[in-house]
Amino acid sequence: MLSYDQEDGLFYSELENDNQRIGLRSAVDTLLPYQNGRCFYCNRKVSKFVLSHYDEFADVDHFFPISILSRIGKDVPNPNGVWNLVIACKKCNRGQNGKFDAPPINEYYESLVTRNILFFEEHRHSLKNAICLSLNATTKQAIRNRMDSIYFYFKPLAGWRPERIFHSED
Ligand SMILES: [Zn+2]
Repeated sequence: MLSYDQEDGLFYSELENDNQRIGLRSAVDTLLPYQNGRCFYCNRKVSKFVLSHYDEFADVDHFFPISILSRIGKDVPNPNGVWNLVIACKKCNRGQNGKFDAPPINEYYESLVTRNILFFEEHRHSLKNAICLSLNATTKQAIRNRMDSIYFYFKPLAGWRPERIFHSED
């Protein structure tokens, strides 16, 4: 049983022993329409209706890897919040030369900030609340500042990019 908690804006599983990554699967339905059904990184069309070993499989990606976020220490927003989740194709997320725990190049960070500010301005209050609560921010500038304060730690490590970018007609 998977749920999206509109109170705290986190995706989670109701089964305590369930794998956290499986619990995050429900984020695909919420986030993919905002990406026009395409991978956040390489722009490939993705789907949740293909087998999970296909490149086109829609994975839920933690933009800021949990492993590094947890090392930053206190006061870090929950890594499973909407603010940190994007949908990536399987190849980008965990295929050969995939992202894994490598922070992406700066332009993707800027896309994430823009998207989170869009969510803040959204008519869907669940997304707006999710961003505000996770980042403890109530203005667009505060969202930017809070994310920059986190990106500060990742900037020296940033550099991952997909091997190939797909075009809208592909
Ligand atoms: Zn991709």
